[in-house]
Amino acid sequence: MNNKVLVLGSVAYDNIETRYAKENNILGGSASYASLACSYFNPAAMLGVVGKDFNPKDIELLKSRDIDLSALQIDESGDTFFWSGKYLDNFNRRETLEVQLNVFEHFNPILPDSLKASKYVLLANISPALQNSCLEQLENPEFVVLDTMDLWINIAREDLLNVMPKVDLFILNDSESELLTAEENIFIAAEKILEIGAKSVLIKKGEHGSVLFTKDDIFIAPSFPVKELKDPTGAGDSYAGAMLGYLAAKGDTSFETMKKAMYYASATASMTVEDFSCRQLEKLGLEEVENRVARLIKISNL
Ligand code: AMP
Repeated sequence: MNNKVLVLGSVAYDNIETRYAKENNILGGSASYASLACSYFNPAAMLGVVGKDFNPKDIELLKSRDIDLSALQIDESGDTFFWSGKYLDNFNRRETLEVQLNVFEHFNPILPDSLKASKYVLLANISPALQNSCLEQLENPEFVVLDTMDLWINIAREDLLNVMPKVDLFILNDSESELLTAEENIFIAAEKILEIGAKSVLIKKGEHGSVLFTKDDIFIAPSFPVKELKDPTGAGDSYAGAMLGYLAAKGDTSFETMKKAMYYASATASMTVEDFSCRQLEKLGLEEVENRVARLIKISNL
């Protein structure tokens, strides 16, 4: 048994265009953001695939944060997954311009024996079929967090509905919860998601905060007030990685600890969006997270 947070997800090179700038071939992917965010609080182990073009500097970056790369496959037969996106004026809407699956196309997530007993598992954004395959290899996970995106709700709904009852916490944003449940009101959408089977659900509302639901409880946490928003890519992945990293570090997944974890997750995600790629996660440290959590507590304390 080990206490590393197992993070399944994509590792990518992204081209991103926002109204500030356009940057090409920058490190992205749900597993990259989530593992780096998690590593502020608790060691992470990454389950994913990269191609022959993957830059050794990026391996060094992940290693420098003690991220276990024993389950990161290097597939020499092709290039790393590539995604290109463009944000429209208000940052809330984005368009996918191009996707090159590359080595992702034949990716089969194989868990090494050393990670099969992982207690804390983040099924970050990747196809629900792969999320399910990862779950099936695990021996007895204690707390499983699920993330997804609109693409999977549209093209792999049945697979996603099969994964949902197996998870302890499903994190998604308000537009995804509406797409999934056909319900605009997040309080009703959350009830529907809990009925499908997730033990708890957390709906993020961008700069307006996030809401955690279980059958018996609701908690509303604020978002950190960011003014220098440069690139929202990876905010959701960072939120999920920090949330589970915090819970794993505490060894406690009670509702009370989840409430605190939401503050840490908001603070961490707020750093990600202040620059392109994972740069702010690389640059800023836990002390900055703590400062932001203190500010969040101050601005939301009645
Ligand atoms: P987010 O902004 O949290 O939705 O995550 C953005 C990251 O998701 C980018 O760095 C992309 O490389 C990655 N991504 C985009 N499309 C997919 C996909 N279909 N599957 C997995 N990851 C993806």
